[in-house]
Amino acid sequence: MDQSIFSADFKPEPYWWDRTPRPVPLEATLPDQADVVIVGSGYTGLNAGLVTARGGLSTVIVDAEQLGWGCSSRNGGQVSGEVKPSYKALARLHGPAQAYAIIAEARTALQWVGDFINKEGIDCDYRHCGRFHAAHSAQQYATQKQEFKSQVKGLERDGHLVDETQIRNEVDSPFYHGGLVINQHASLDPARYHQALYERTLASGCHVVDNCRVENIVRNADGFNLGTAKGQIRAGKVIIATSGYTGSATPWHQRRIIPIGSYMLATEMLDPDLARSLIPNDRVVSDTRKLVVYYRLSPDGHRILFGARVSYKETDPTSSAGPLRLEMLRIFPQLADAKITHSWMGFVGYTFDKLPHLGEDNGLFYAMGYCGSGICLSSYFGHRLGQQALGIPDAKIPMNGLRFETRPFYRGNPWFLGPTIRYYQIRDRFN
Ligand SMILES: Cc1cc2nc3c(=O)[nH]c(=O)nc-3n(C[C@H](O)[C@H](O)[C@H](O)COP(=O)(O)OP(=O)(O)OC[C@H]3O[C@@H](n4cnc5c(N)ncnc54)[C@H](O)[C@@H]3O)c2cc1C
Repeated sequence: MDQSIFSADFKPEPYWWDRTPRPVPLEATLPDQADVVIVGSGYTGLNAGLVTARGGLSTVIVDAEQLGWGCSSRNGGQVSGEVKPSYKALARLHGPAQAYAIIAEARTALQWVGDFINKEGIDCDYRHCGRFHAAHSAQQYATQKQEFKSQVKGLERDGHLVDETQIRNEVDSPFYHGGLVINQHASLDPARYHQALYERTLASGCHVVDNCRVENIVRNADGFNLGTAKGQIRAGKVIIATSGYTGSATPWHQRRIIPIGSYMLATEMLDPDLARSLIPNDRVVSDTRKLVVYYRLSPDGHRILFGARVSYKETDPTSSAGPLRLEMLRIFPQLADAKITHSWMGFVGYTFDKLPHLGEDNGLFYAMGYCGSGICLSSYFGHRLGQQALGIPDAKIPMNGLRFETRPFYRGNPWFLGPTIRYYQIRDRFN
């Protein structure tokens, strides 16, 4: 590894943590019992807890690590209300009405999270910046044009196409052949958003405990008994909010979640004119490759925050920095001299049908598997799950109870990842 790519103060941890370190909880001990125990302190868990505690249920949230240690304090801060499958693909599997309802609900989630941040007065650099979704080949741009012009009525995206001659208005890169601006998408600082949620869960009366891994969950006549690293706790209801970090405490869920590492880096502070010229409209950016690439300016406008998947196997964040930087330079050769100050990774929770899932089995609730678009979906699903745990009528959404698939012999270790990534790389080269 060429050490000269790193700044002297390089850290193998999220850029966001400089400004918002992981919170030190007020509580070190676990109570004996609660109406609701929530496993996982990311956006899903905190949003669910906020609703159950405000609704009058005693609520305990536990995390195996520091609070917000999972994806919720390490993501790219790109807020979209999108599910991965297209309307066509969903209609084939679930019928046109259900397909429509699923996509419409994801859009509702996007509107909801903006309204929620506003209503709660959360200061997390939330901005309606819009997304530029760039086409990495002429063929992909042709597909984008065709799809944009034949959108399903009622599910239209508010946006416009950008052809190759105008591309530098959006990204100053020789890499792309056109793209689509989607106006509704937004950006935020993920760790500040998480911190604000945490503070509101405390104010609502939640008991939040870190370094408290749930090791087993046993159902009994009155509810559940949870064995944790800090002792036993009884719960009337349990909410599983572990997504890409789902483990052996919930084997049924572990068999349905595919943890896939996503890797990010932050550049050093750039010359302000250079930074501005790279993404002139300060949008969040992604591109049409199957191997997802996403980037943006930092909220202060001084750095590029760049994310992608750059290795067949999972690797450590210091080793990922080199290949990630090379990928960044393919798009922005102007950054050849920019040092890397931070490099990090996290496990995104994917699912076999590429949809997020939520549901309940006799008091055991879950929401997970946001497939990389989890900021607004996990917040909204957590909120809805909290309402469902409270027994609020009409709290269910179209994704509730969709068949949550697994595959024969799959136990949570995605051995097929390497070959899939190889296949996607080849597809991206020729498509
Ligand atoms: C690098 C990266 C970039 C991303 N970029 C974006 C983006 O730009 N836009 C977007 O929308 N989404 C993005 N995502 C995805 C998004 O961050 C997640 O979908 C979302 O944060 C999921 O929230 P969550 O609360 O469900 O799970 P998490 O935030 O992952 O929280 C799960 C928690 O469960 C805890 N846990 C697991 N097992 C146990 C146990 N047995 N006992 C106790 N606790 C346990 C873990 O320690 C963890 O803290 C990104 C993800 C990564 C990794």
